Amino acid sequence: MAFDYDLFVIGGGSGGVRAARVAAGDWGAKVGLAEESRMGGTCVIRGCVPKKLMVFASGFPAMFEDAQAYGWKAEGGTFDWRVFRNRLEAELDRLEAAYRTTLKNAGVVVHDTRATIVDPHRVRLATGEEFTAKHILVATGGWPFVPEFPGSDLAVTSNEMFHLDALPKRALVVGGGYIAGEFACILNGLGVEVSQYYRGAQILRGFDDEVRGHVANAMREAGIGIHLGTAVTKLEKTPTGIRVTGSDGSEREVDLVLYATGRRPNTAGLGLEALGLELGRTGEIPVDAYSQTAVPSIFAVGDVTGRINLTPVAIREGHAFADTVFGARPTTFDHQLVASAVFTQPELGSVGLSEEAAREQESIEVYATAFRPMRTAFAGRPERVLMKLIVSQATRKVLGCHIVAPEAGEMIQLAAIAIRMGATKEDFDATCAVHPTMAEELVTMRKPVRTA
Ligand code: NDP
Repeated sequence: MAFDYDLFVIGGGSGGVRAARVAAGDWGAKVGLAEESRMGGTCVIRGCVPKKLMVFASGFPAMFEDAQAYGWKAEGGTFDWRVFRNRLEAELDRLEAAYRTTLKNAGVVVHDTRATIVDPHRVRLATGEEFTAKHILVATGGWPFVPEFPGSDLAVTSNEMFHLDALPKRALVVGGGYIAGEFACILNGLGVEVSQYYRGAQILRGFDDEVRGHVANAMREAGIGIHLGTAVTKLEKTPTGIRVTGSDGSEREVDLVLYATGRRPNTAGLGLEALGLELGRTGEIPVDAYSQTAVPSIFAVGDVTGRINLTPVAIREGHAFADTVFGARPTTFDHQLVASAVFTQPELGSVGLSEEAAREQESIEVYATAFRPMRTAFAGRPERVLMKLIVSQATRKVLGCHIVAPEAGEMIQLAAIAIRMGATKEDFDATCAVHPTMAEELVTMRKPVRTA
C-alpha cells in the first residue's frame, strides 16, 4: 500500500522536530509534521529557553551589589518588565523561525494545526484533511497540571509567566519541584516578595537530601518564604489581590499565585484509546526501549511517554527512533546517568545517585565540602557552595555527583562525562586541579566525611 507519508509526527517540540529532521534529512523519508501551537514546543516557547533568559535577568541586582564591593560605582537601576518581555518575545520569534527553516531545509512538510489519530496508519487534521502514514510518531509533550480546589482558576501556570502584563509585587509559588524552585528564585531576584508552599517535608524531592537542604537554606537566606508541609485550601479574589488560605489556617494576600505542581502528558483526545492503547496512570503512553507502542506503527517520544521529562532526553529518543526506523540502525537511548540542572539561585547540578539511593544499593563513601566561593565571598556574601561525591566502596566508582554553586549546570555536564565513563574516585584524585576555581574541589576531597 502506498502511504502519503513514511512518517507523520504529531508535535513540533524537541523530540518531534529532531525525529522529523533526521528521518527526512538524514534518511530520506517523506515526513509530515503537525503542530497546533508554536513550533519549538515547551522548551523553546514556554519552558527552558524563556526561563533561562528570566534567570539571567533576575541575576543582575546581586551583580550590581557585588560590583560595588569590587570598587565599581554602580547604581542598581530599575527593572522594566515590559522591555524585557518584548525582547524575550522577539527572541522566541527568532528561534521559532529557525526551527521552521530547519524542518523546511530537511524537506519536512509542516501542517500548522492539530492532528489526531484515526487508525494505525491514518491521521486527521483539524482542517478535515486526512493523511496516511507508514509510521506515526506521537511527540505531543506535556501540559501544566493544577489540582482543582476553590479558587484554583485564579492560579496561573508556568505557561502564563512569560506573558504577564506586569510583574506582581507579592507572589505565592505552589510546589516543590524544578519549576516552583526556579520561578521562586526568578521572581525573588526581580524584586518580587515571594512565598513558596510545598506540601512535603523538603523541596526538590528526588534529589540528594543534603543538597535539598542546602538549596532551601540559600533560598530562605535570599528572602524567599518557604513554607513546608503547607498546602493551599482556598483562593479568593479581593479588591487588592488574591487571598490565600493555607492548610495551616493562615491567610495571606498576594498579587499572583503560580501553580507548579507537575505536568501531565498531552494525550487527551488524540484517539489513542480507540486504537486499544492503554495509557498509564497520568495519561502517559507506554513504550518499549525503541519508543514503540503496543500498536507497531505508532511510536512516542518525549514527555508524553513520562520517562524522563527533559528536552535533551526527548531529543535523543527522537533521534534514536529515526535512526532505528528509517536508518536501519537499531538504536536505544540509555536513560541511566542523565545529568540535570535546576536553575534556582544558587543553581543545582546533579548526576547519578543521591546519597540516600546509593546507600540502599551498596556500601558507600561520601565526600562533601561546603565553602564560600572566592567571587562572592570577596563581595561579602554569605553564600556557600556544596560539592558532593558518592563513591562505591566495592568498585571505587563515583556513583553520584551533586553540586550547588553558580554555574553548577555547566560543571555537572563535564562531571557527567567522567561518571558515565565509569571514573573511580582515584581517577578524580589523579586529575590535577584547575586553580583557582570552585570545581577544583571535586578533585581535592581526600577524606570521606562518612561511610554508610
Ligand atoms: P515536578 O514533578 O518537578 O514537581 C511537582 C511538584 O508539585 C512537586 O513538588 C510535587 O510534590 C508538587 N505537587 C504535585 N501535585 C500536587 C498537588 N496536587 N498539590 C500540591 N503540590 C503538588 O514538576 P514541575 O512542574 O516542577 O516540572 C515538570 C518537569 O519538567 C520536571 O519534573 C522536570 O523533569 C522538567 N523540568 C526541568 C527543568 C530543568 O531541567 N531545569 C526545569 C523545569 C522543568 P511532591 O514532591 O510531594 O510530589
